[in-house]
Amino acid sequence: MSDERRRSSLELNPALGHLQVPASDRCWWCGDVATTEEHRIKASTLRRVARLGDGTVAPGNVFKKSSDYEATLRSLNKGTQVRWRKNLCGNCNNAKSQPFDRAYDDFELFLVEHIDVMSTWERIDWQTVYSSGWREKSRNLARYFGKQLGCMLATHQLQVPAELIEFLNGADRCPSTGFRLYINPRAVDFHRQMRSDGSADGLSGFVGLLDSTAYQTEGVFSGIDYGYHIGYLWFLAQWRAGADIDSWFEDQAVDLPRLSKG
Ligand SMILES: [Zn+2]
Repeated sequence: MSDERRRSSLELNPALGHLQVPASDRCWWCGDVATTEEHRIKASTLRRVARLGDGTVAPGNVFKKSSDYEATLRSLNKGTQVRWRKNLCGNCNNAKSQPFDRAYDDFELFLVEHIDVMSTWERIDWQTVYSSGWREKSRNLARYFGKQLGCMLATHQLQVPAELIEFLNGADRCPSTGFRLYINPRAVDFHRQMRSDGSADGLSGFVGLLDSTAYQTEGVFSGIDYGYHIGYLWFLAQWRAGADIDSWFEDQAVDLPRLSKG
């Protein structure tokens, strides 16, 4: 990171004012009229987390932790804590992104099933997760988070990079965005503690967005960090203008480095 680069937390919107584009009623992906609000956290994930042992589902069972919220939810379907602003058309938010949603669902299921052991792994083998379709499915998992990144950018009136849109449209790579997985060791300790205290799910019910940071270089928008976690596993999507960064879908096995906040 060069010295000219300045970081701004996305929560400090006034500091980003000069980087913002005019408010738009258009879908940032295809340009049609925007009619839908994407979930910040997938509805099925919220239902999983909200489901009690007796099968009942209630928002008060979901604990959400993010940079601007730390409490149980009041709704699983509405409000700014669970949805981005209205910035996608129905076709992009539903039909076009269905393969991304499926790749996320399959990975989440795998993670929840392996949450007691994955914390000891040094690598993930995509074939173990997705079997023979791993190459495209691990890419679609990245596209799921690429779509989240686009919705976050549009929500904050920041330009969605053209390369990210090309990736969602089927390009094999998005060089300027690194999609990376990390294990947070402190959260692993917390998970083990919860399990030894008798919790059936441990930390798998803790989902949330990580703090986001925007970067500028000489007054021009030049980077963004998006982060999300299920339990101790962090999913990071980091865009850096003009960069060429490796992502988790480029090899059959990907490292799981350990990373903690600050
Ligand atoms: Zn669209």
